[in-house]
Amino acid sequence: MWSMILKDRPEPLELRILKLLDARTALEEKEKKYLHNKAKGYEGEKMFDLLTGKLEPPSYLLHDLLLESNNSKFQIDTLMIRQDPIHLFEVKNYEGDFNYENGRFYSLAIKKEIKNPLLQLERCESLLRQLLQSLGYHMTIEAYVIFINPKFHLYQSPMNKPIIYPNQLPDFMCKLNRKSSTLNGLHKSLAEQLVSMHQTESPYEKYSKYSIDMLKKGIICAVCHSFDVSSFDRHVQCQVCGHCEGLDSAVLRAVGEIKLLYPNVKITTNLVFEWCESIDSKKTIRRVLKQNLICNGKTKGLFYE
Ligand SMILES: [Zn+2]
Repeated sequence: MWSMILKDRPEPLELRILKLLDARTALEEKEKKYLHNKAKGYEGEKMFDLLTGKLEPPSYLLHDLLLESNNSKFQIDTLMIRQDPIHLFEVKNYEGDFNYENGRFYSLAIKKEIKNPLLQLERCESLLRQLLQSLGYHMTIEAYVIFINPKFHLYQSPMNKPIIYPNQLPDFMCKLNRKSSTLNGLHKSLAEQLVSMHQTESPYEKYSKYSIDMLKKGIICAVCHSFDVSSFDRHVQCQVCGHCEGLDSAVLRAVGEIKLLYPNVKITTNLVFEWCESIDSKKTIRRVLKQNLICNGKTKGLFYE
């Protein structure tokens, strides 16, 4: 038996929203930075998933869990439930040179102290242990910070800390692969219980200041996100990268963007027509919506779902 993914890692909703907003409006500087870090973090987590997914001893893999214990929320990048111990991984995709001094982490690039991933890990592990105990599970937890980026370097790196550096990762994964593990009902029920306790946070409030009329309209290229897209017989073509897409697919993609950014807005022909500035026929938009979505409402207030 191989590892089983009980909870996958879809691209976080907030990241998807931020990417769309970034293409269509000027984000604040701190939001831009946040988007960059979030995208980078997600990329690193996916890289680590490739490694854990290859492990042979049976285990349940839970990705990106948001849990609550003692009124404190905590987020787990990867939890590997297998025969004692359970493994908790905090994945960091930091790139470049960092320094460790007096228990603190500094980025040499920005010459600033950064969040200490060891403290983050400690907090997470402690809250998870309390949660497991309250649920009646008494398994040991082994927790690690994984620095996944091969371009990461930590000067004065501390000894005896639960850190796995990029160059140690292959050996570490081999070691995990050699440990035998037998799963029983207890492991399964714990895994399922944790998945059922996973919480979601809505990011919409945070970005509600970006109203629909503030965003730049037009179809964006599916590949390079350029607005320089022109339409011709049932196709749209990007003038920057040359990517060609069916017209219907481009319109439906635009509908998907509106729905993602404004889940409560009614999809009408006029709205989609305005959004897809580069398509100059309202009739075309109406046809695509009619053929692909469910039409609701009366003649005058038609909307699509
Ligand atoms: Zn393009």
